[in-house]
Amino acid sequence: MLDVVTVFTYNAVINLSIMMVATVAWARNPHQKEITFWAIAAWFMVIGTICSSLTEHVPYNILGYIGGVIYVARTGLIRLGFKEFFGQPYSLWQAFNISFVVCIGLVLAEFLEDPTPVRIALIYLGSAINLALGMQDLWRGKSGERLPSGRLAAMVYAAYALTSLAIVPLPILYPIRFEGTTPISDWLTYTSMLLLVFNLLAFLMAMVLKLERSGEIQRQLAERDHLTGIVNRRIFLQQAARLAPQPGTAIAVLDLDHFKRINDTYGHRGGDDALVQFAQRTQLFLPPDAVFGRLGGEEFGICLPGRDRAFAWNTLNTVRLALSAEDICSGEQRFRLTLSCGLVVTQGPPRSLDAWMAMADAGLYAAKNEGRNRVVLQEPPQPQDEPSTPQMQLGQGDWDKAARLSA
Ligand code: GH3
Ligand code: MG
Ligand code: MG
Repeated sequence: MLDVVTVFTYNAVINLSIMMVATVAWARNPHQKEITFWAIAAWFMVIGTICSSLTEHVPYNILGYIGGVIYVARTGLIRLGFKEFFGQPYSLWQAFNISFVVCIGLVLAEFLEDPTPVRIALIYLGSAINLALGMQDLWRGKSGERLPSGRLAAMVYAAYALTSLAIVPLPILYPIRFEGTTPISDWLTYTSMLLLVFNLLAFLMAMVLKLERSGEIQRQLAERDHLTGIVNRRIFLQQAARLAPQPGTAIAVLDLDHFKRINDTYGHRGGDDALVQFAQRTQLFLPPDAVFGRLGGEEFGICLPGRDRAFAWNTLNTVRLALSAEDICSGEQRFRLTLSCGLVVTQGPPRSLDAWMAMADAGLYAAKNEGRNRVVLQEPPQPQDEPSTPQMQLGQGDWDKAARLSA
């Protein structure tokens, strides 16, 4: 049968390991505030458990309670770490407000006939409140972000909070006996072991969320255009290549008109704002299954799977009108912008994506030549026409060359 002090000592050793890992993580990322909060929380946990395990040498009602308040503050720091991690507003005081109230409660308990059970209950209650608040922050997360383990982490913290809450009545119902300065209690032994497991899990969940966030950032960097946030050229071509073999897939190449002039007149910042606002506006008019990517510079691609030619043309024309009908805002400046678009809808014999892109690009070339600000639907050549079609001259199998021709 384990005694409380032995369990507390084991807790201190395991928490020391967590603290070392957290400290290494902090040393490697000193500017990431959430890691700083979690590292300090790990330190607090170690100090708190050391205080509680030294009660053979120092009276329990001094070190035990100081350790208890530090323990409550630790859960507040974990919570603050999550607030920082998810970009939620917070003040430093939120890490310590519950432990401050607990501290006042511990002092006021002096007026009770037997203050010890209430004091211990208060420590568990404070910790449960902080953990429940942390769970709430985890559940809320960051708007627009869905980390795969976000919900699981919130559930772990909910279970941690509920377990702490369930312990609250135990010191009152089954008061801890003291042999000299050493606490003796079965429930304290078992619940301390249970809370240690939760403590480990809670720390692991924070690390898992950090890993998932950095994985997500890596993926975004590899797949998304950094300025507009839509998929980059590589991913657009990959997804379009998957859709192109299906007949009735619309492939469009869009190019903003006289964009160099926009840059020259409104500055590079004006150009950047135009690109971002064009991408935002366009997404409003595209069906959910559309693929919309930045091919490079002021050139974009749109792929609409399984649509007829009229629908495709109308969608692209709506995108064109949406751009030209509303001002682009860049600081105090307001200006209008138009686009030209070449469009092809797959049909007939199967071709490579390069071939379809070359046809769309030929349409774009025609749109520019016909005066810009228009959508040109390019007819795929019939098999018997192929040798003489301009699309084929543009270089089937070499869309990049075609793109350069239209630029
Ligand atoms: P056209 O109507 O024939 O397409 O004329 P254009 O001026 O749009 O075409 P051109 O290829 O001459 O110029 C494209 C310009 O787009 C030149 C380049 O500086 C600008 N550009 C490309 N990428 C970016 C970007 O990320 N930000 C900004 N601000 N400008 C960009
Ligand atoms: Mg252009
Ligand atoms: Mg261009």
